Amino acid sequence: MPPRWWKPGAVKPDSNNGYRSPATGFLLACIFAATASAQPSLDALLDGEIGSLVATYKRLHAAPELSHYEENTAAFFAGQLRAMGYTVTERVGKFDRPEWVGYGVVAVMKNGDGPSVLVRTDLDALPIEEKTGLAYASKVKTRNDAGQEVGVMHACGHDIHITTMLGVARIMATLKDQWQGTLVLIGQPAEETIDGARAMLKDGLYARFPRPAYALALHDNPEFATGHVACVPGYALASANSVDIKIRGVGGHGSRPEAAKDPVVLAAEVVMALQTIVSRENSPLDPAVITVGSIHGGTRYNIIPDEVNLQLTVRAFKEEVRQKLLAAIERVTKGLALAAGLPGDRAPIVKVSETEATPATYNDPALTERLAGALVKALGRENVSQGAPIMGSEDFGLFSLEHQIPTTMFWLGASDPVKLQESRNTGRPMPSLHSALFAPVPEPTLRTGVKAMTSAVLELMKK
Ligand SMILES: [Zn+2]
Ligand SMILES: [Zn+2]
Repeated sequence: MPPRWWKPGAVKPDSNNGYRSPATGFLLACIFAATASAQPSLDALLDGEIGSLVATYKRLHAAPELSHYEENTAAFFAGQLRAMGYTVTERVGKFDRPEWVGYGVVAVMKNGDGPSVLVRTDLDALPIEEKTGLAYASKVKTRNDAGQEVGVMHACGHDIHITTMLGVARIMATLKDQWQGTLVLIGQPAEETIDGARAMLKDGLYARFPRPAYALALHDNPEFATGHVACVPGYALASANSVDIKIRGVGGHGSRPEAAKDPVVLAAEVVMALQTIVSRENSPLDPAVITVGSIHGGTRYNIIPDEVNLQLTVRAFKEEVRQKLLAAIERVTKGLALAAGLPGDRAPIVKVSETEATPATYNDPALTERLAGALVKALGRENVSQGAPIMGSEDFGLFSLEHQIPTTMFWLGASDPVKLQESRNTGRPMPSLHSALFAPVPEPTLRTGVKAMTSAVLELMKK
């Protein structure tokens, strides 16, 4: 029977969709991989751990912290790893804003000669008021950087990732006689704001600590059933850039447009013209998105304002596509302002954020293929599938140093299979990541995450 490699609707790797096709070896590895063979030692170890892991997860879930403020989460994570025998360094991470402390954690375990393998979890939560109604739901409220009171929730499941990492850490420490090399476990702050990975690298992650031969991560995903994982060889998540556009005009009375240069009309033209960059300038075989997520201008019915401000998010897989989109946004915006007759000193200001920017997450095909084989062995063929790339983003790709270090991130299923099937039947989607209703099933999601990541690490480090 052929392996269930892709879930319904997933993009097949041989379809010509503009991103690099995965090696056919990926499939072969799975076809020839051993059939479901539970690893009794891992399962036995997990039986002893799972109770406390679920308790840890619920505790973390009830106490989320926003990006740049992960102080207690990081301290708890560091303390746990130190108690397991890891050499732990805290407060790794340098942000551009001096008032932000880098709450990154680096835990190292040296165990003889062998490869250095990095595993990453993120630590932060989101400004969302939880509405799951769970007994361990977050009731945390805090003030954001703008001074507004916001609810805080682990709505992206980074608490699942932290707990999984603690399980992996303990089992790797217990199984020290089965592997060799240097294990580097990192807790990364500020993933949601996509500036935490950069902050850790800037603070010497690869200089002060062993530079890894491989870097691995997982992310929970409500599109897959709990107990299930999915690998995406090649481009898996898109690059992201935040862009601010200030469209300047010449304000005046709403009754006298001839005496003004209306930035509202110009902004409307810009919003529409930006859509033609993707549809008319970009190859349809190269996925790309330009979304104007915010538009603000003016104060009253009868006043032509001086300016309108737009906020954009720009997504792509290939670096050359990303550069082309960013250049086109500036050209189109400035060109339309010229056409509107705006003087040069009132040209639009287009600013691409340097901090809210991340490259695509590219899963090294050879590494992904190798680990897929290990995951099939550990979890059974029926529980490992191939996922499709998405236009969501992550800053994990930065740890590859522009593809110099093979990296891969796999999806960890988090939904009750019955509810997932129901949602597919009714066409009503499961609460997504970043939803106030997102509620991953703790068990067996945690067990599967620990088993999968431990198997992946052992595959790279086994004696
Ligand atoms: Zn997220
Ligand atoms: Zn996330």
